[in-house]
Amino acid sequence: MEQTKKDIRALSKEELRSFFESIGEKPFRGDQVYQWLWSKGAHSFDQMTNLSIQTRAHLQANFVINHIKVDSIQRSKDGTIKNGVKLHDGLVVESVLIPTNARTTACVSSQVGCSLDCSFCATARLKRMRNLNPDEIYDQVVAIDKESRLYHDRPLSNIVFMGMGEPLMNYKNVLAAIDKITSPEGLGMSPKRIVVSTSGVPKMIKKMADDKVKFNLAVSLHSAIQETREKIMPFAKSFTLEDLKEALVYWFEKTAKQITYEYVVWKGINDQKQDVKALITFCSYVPCKVNIIEYNPIDDGVFQQADNNALDLYISMLEKARIPVTVRRSRGKDIDAACGQLANKQ
Ligand code: SAH
Repeated sequence: MEQTKKDIRALSKEELRSFFESIGEKPFRGDQVYQWLWSKGAHSFDQMTNLSIQTRAHLQANFVINHIKVDSIQRSKDGTIKNGVKLHDGLVVESVLIPTNARTTACVSSQVGCSLDCSFCATARLKRMRNLNPDEIYDQVVAIDKESRLYHDRPLSNIVFMGMGEPLMNYKNVLAAIDKITSPEGLGMSPKRIVVSTSGVPKMIKKMADDKVKFNLAVSLHSAIQETREKIMPFAKSFTLEDLKEALVYWFEKTAKQITYEYVVWKGINDQKQDVKALITFCSYVPCKVNIIEYNPIDDGVFQQADNNALDLYISMLEKARIPVTVRRSRGKDIDAACGQLANKQ
């Protein structure tokens, strides 16, 4: 019978207020329940002690609270923690806590599997099973915030949507989750501390710009040459660099927010001068910075991290062109928690 009950967290505050009205109770009960569900993270109706026992029983009879369950925790020697998160239907996603001296970052998933097909990414090998609901995304953040307080004595400071899935293919739910994360009734975090990372879905980047979102945007570029990008990210045949460029220009016009390009340099794929030149040209379209990510091997060596000379070439040419560039070292590699390694291996 449980399955036929509605997930109470799918209801907005207004819907909760109307529900209480419909059963002859005061609408403010809706506000109370909303607080229990979101600010206080209640897992059961019994916890809602400012409601009468009858009201709690009534809720229990009509609704479920589909909370995620952190099923497994792996801790890396560098302090990174990976959570295996079980959803109410038994599917599993992963989220990661990444501590540095200055911050603690949660890397969260937006889909079970992924809709896209980047050939260097372990998540892409899992076909997309379904989108995560707003509360399933929110719960991952809450779980990591708790771990951050427990293991690092401080609350979570940043969130990146760089776990499993393509956030812009689940845009509505990602947005609803971010609303909860940033609202005072949720975690009250600043949207400036949130980064949504996309493989580059032009139409959705424009939609985000129209929605005047306040969080930051990262784009997994990896190559600014159409032919090369198509080879490693086959969906780029439909979402071309030309369309991506147009969408990013639109984004900047509307939001005035600079963009971060994520970029892995692979041996024999994008490690030549012409690749850097193309990247520099692409960087001229919109104010941006480049984040070079270390490659995390996922299999038999089809993709290999380029050697240091190639990285130095990128860094020196980008710096000469006055494009900010950082190199990000992998975290949590020993527990398969680094970029592109999330694939529910456990
Ligand atoms: N789908 C979104 C969110 C995932 S973010 C996106 O593509 O942006 C994960 C980041 O890790 C992306 O920048 C992705 O390109 C990168 N990545 C994927 N596989 C990787 C690997 N094996 N090593 C390093 N980075 C990888």
